[in-house]
Amino acid sequence: MFHGTNIEHARTLNRRVVFEAVRRHGAITRADLARLTGLTPQAVSNISAELRDAGLIREGARRQGLRGQPAVELSLEPTGGYAVGLNLGHQFLSGVLVNLAGEVIASDSLPLAAPVLPLDSLMGVMESVVEGLLAQARLPRDQLWGVGCGLPGLVRDGVLIVDTMSGGEDRPHYPLAQSLGTRLNLPVIAENDARAAAIGERLYGIGREARHFFYLHFGFGIGGGMIVDGDHYRGGSGGAGEIGHMIVKPGGRPCSCGNRGCLEQYCSLFSAGEAVGGTERSADQVRPEELSACLAANEPSFMTWLREAAHHLRTAIHNIEVMFDPETVVIGGSLPEDVLNRLVALTQPLLPSVYPDPARGRALPRLTVATAPDMPALGAAALPISAMIQPSLGLLWKVPAGPGAALAQAALSQAQTVLGSPFVRSEVSVTNLTENG
Ligand SMILES: [Zn+2]
Repeated sequence: MFHGTNIEHARTLNRRVVFEAVRRHGAITRADLARLTGLTPQAVSNISAELRDAGLIREGARRQGLRGQPAVELSLEPTGGYAVGLNLGHQFLSGVLVNLAGEVIASDSLPLAAPVLPLDSLMGVMESVVEGLLAQARLPRDQLWGVGCGLPGLVRDGVLIVDTMSGGEDRPHYPLAQSLGTRLNLPVIAENDARAAAIGERLYGIGREARHFFYLHFGFGIGGGMIVDGDHYRGGSGGAGEIGHMIVKPGGRPCSCGNRGCLEQYCSLFSAGEAVGGTERSADQVRPEELSACLAANEPSFMTWLREAAHHLRTAIHNIEVMFDPETVVIGGSLPEDVLNRLVALTQPLLPSVYPDPARGRALPRLTVATAPDMPALGAAALPISAMIQPSLGLLWKVPAGPGAALAQAALSQAQTVLGSPFVRSEVSVTNLTENG
């Protein structure tokens, strides 16, 4: 059963609501904030003063209204906080350091020595990328709100449940967020890479135009993330959008999940690698850049793969549309740009749609190519910031425990005092939310 919350939580929640409204809206007056949030002008005035004093928002130009005193516009203070986003891609690890406004202050990308690194080495590489970004930005560590990680595989509460990079055999249920958090002495939030990319796209890409969209992410496999009514949908166990295991060819190729004919077996870097590597090399030894050369040379086995991938992708897009009716399906990830563009071109025409066509009200094309090259890292960087300010009640009882919980106290001092910490609320359930706050 759903209960209300006590007054202290309500205050925290209201601060988050006001802060999120400023973040989403841009420069805005207190009067407009009150209208937008449903809070009283007095409450907005008090909360905005608290947020200003904490260095999270700033007062800008006065806007001349029709009558009375010109109103002061409030906007985000970009230097109020910073976060790092990491993306563990196929044969690389990339990272970005962003400010509160999502502007990239520093970025880096390292090739990985092997497709599957021992966990100790992987943690070491992640740690050095974070340290490198801090040095590049000349930013003291205590300015970081946390680190977000986009990982291939099923991620639940910061734990890598199934690691697609290792075939799910070698290191199941690895508490990656906790381990990295301990090493870095910072809160770390882990998320599936496709879901992280969808969150990035929501904040910095197509999300500015669409409230409902599906993000298809080309990694070694193929994953997906759903944005429903402006919010990221995780599903019952955090695995919503595992599009790679949608069956597109019943009785087709066997898949690691135990089924046959999954999309991933036809449409992924892994399947392209198998086509190009032939009998001489394993799929993970084929670098994504090679696919561009194959395309340029019209290499027969690659072109066969491309046509088959487009055929099954068309089916998948149709299935996504009928299940979910998104405003658009966005496709991005680690496939080289020229290969992705050709693949998308080959899906045309898409299967007949049961929904309105552009002439009858559809504002966006059914299929859109993602523009930012490193959306998973950008989306991952948004995770610590979103966790901190997300007014969604769901997050109040969904963020996991771990060493990062205690560490967060040290790292997030001032912002946390004002906004409350999502990291220490790990044991809060719907029930004790009313009993204990
Ligand atoms: Zn499968």
